Amino acid sequence: MTQVVYLDHAATTPLDPRVRAAMEPWLGERFGNPSSRHPFGVAAAEALDGARAGVARAFAVRAADVVFTSGATEANNLGVIGQARAGRKHGRRVLVGATEHPSVREAAEALEREGFAVETLALDADSSVDLEDLARRLAPDVVLVAQMLVSNEFGTVYPLRELARVVRARAPHARVHVDAVQAVGKIECALAELGCDSLALSAHKLHGPQGVGALVLVNSTVEALLVGGGQERGRRSGTENVAGALGLAAALRFAELERAASLAAAKAARAAIVARLSEMPGSRVLEPGRRARGIVDAILALVVRVAPAEVVMHHLERRGVYVSAGAACQSKKGAQSPSLAALGLGEDEARHVLRFSFARTTTVAEAEFAAQALVEVQRELAAVNA
Ligand code: PMP
Repeated sequence: MTQVVYLDHAATTPLDPRVRAAMEPWLGERFGNPSSRHPFGVAAAEALDGARAGVARAFAVRAADVVFTSGATEANNLGVIGQARAGRKHGRRVLVGATEHPSVREAAEALEREGFAVETLALDADSSVDLEDLARRLAPDVVLVAQMLVSNEFGTVYPLRELARVVRARAPHARVHVDAVQAVGKIECALAELGCDSLALSAHKLHGPQGVGALVLVNSTVEALLVGGGQERGRRSGTENVAGALGLAAALRFAELERAASLAAAKAARAAIVARLSEMPGSRVLEPGRRARGIVDAILALVVRVAPAEVVMHHLERRGVYVSAGAACQSKKGAQSPSLAALGLGEDEARHVLRFSFARTTTVAEAEFAAQALVEVQRELAAVNA
């Protein structure tokens, strides 16, 4: 059997067997609607309460601050649209980071169609959010500022705490929403530390199940997007996903317990690939902001000279190495990634960015296997081009 090395953990991660074990009873013999008054319902409600307490603990908030959702897409939609609508009486301006995931950006576009004015924040030469540009745009009529915490392109950590401080000083009614999908389990995400009002996360990015996530919301209100039975304190109707919520809580617990080991695994995997760079003529690492604010080692962006990333990716795939030509998918089809443009990469070079992403299950042997394949693929393609 050919070996498969999966290095696309920023896209999704395998389910941890311990997380699966935490979910299993509620996928089998146990069931009940948490809203039912009989013992099956009460037991389901208790299980859900336990999961909620676990999620709350991970972000140092109260259980009532956790809204379970179907993932980060829904959490971002609710955080952006729901909070902006709830703050409408104060104004109709919304500021959005330039590198946001489509679930944030397009949520803002939806607001635009109902009369909000949406502005995109500028990036500095380090591809980080330009806080001076932000300060200039802030005024009391800004009701929401959305900015991701860790870049899904390079792993760059954005200065959320400083951003929140600038927002508080100049826009008293504005809520700060953070997409923490690529940050949770990797860096500190306590809401008070970040100074944010709401945070979106997705379980499958941290060895939990797909289709479940949460919006963590402190001292803020949202206008619900899903209405009906009034679950989640009226903020998200629909019978709760009990097994999924338990999976999310368990995934967070293991992510926290094993954070140091996970960081070490990512660092070692990254180093194993970077060590072979001299054998890849013209290739280089993209790690904007590493010195200024740090970078999450779990994501490694490489500019490969020899061919577009998409081509290299498919050649790697044939050798059993699964990565992503990820950076480009940040932007809408045809448009260039704003973060790459900020770094001075032209449209052509931007197509040469290959993304490796690691997890706590990644071994050095896997990274070495991938590095060897990458060296060979580049040699092969160079020979074809010659
Ligand atoms: N935000 C970011 C930064 C992401 O990487 C993703 C997943 N690609 C999402 C939001 C959306 O998460 P989900 O697909 O689980 O809803």
